[in-house]
Amino acid sequence: MAEQAKETRVVSDVWDLTTYSWRVEADGLKLLVDGLKEGKILGRKCSRCNTVYVPGPCYCRKCFVDIDEVVEVEKTGRIVTFAVNLADIRGNPLDEPVISIVAKLDGSDSLYPGILEGIDWHEVEAGMAVKLALREELTGQLADITGYVPA
Ligand SMILES: [Zn+2]
Repeated sequence: MAEQAKETRVVSDVWDLTTYSWRVEADGLKLLVDGLKEGKILGRKCSRCNTVYVPGPCYCRKCFVDIDEVVEVEKTGRIVTFAVNLADIRGNPLDEPVISIVAKLDGSDSLYPGILEGIDWHEVEAGMAVKLALREELTGQLADITGYVPA
């Protein structure tokens, strides 16, 4: 794995994300939301290379073999990268900055996105420990994950 950046670089710019699309396998998503009903984060592990994916795909992206071993990963992890949104998608200033992060959950090799709350954005840095925040009443939806908080 690449070495973590030693410092946080500030890049001010505007990115239009509306043209991007992501493909998510429904099966891996179902596994994730079914686990959420019990407060668990579930993914799949490749028995050949031990890569753990969340959400778990039906085949390993590296080995191209079917994978069906379900594993539970931690709700804690570390920030890999983040962006501070000062304006909405139309450029209107936000009352409060929104911190969008991508974190690698402990026990997983995937990156999971979310909104980080409970910290001043000036104090956020790559490599920082965070924890997934879940709703009190879990219903088995992605919305059960409300975002991240500092760990
Ligand atoms: Zn593999």
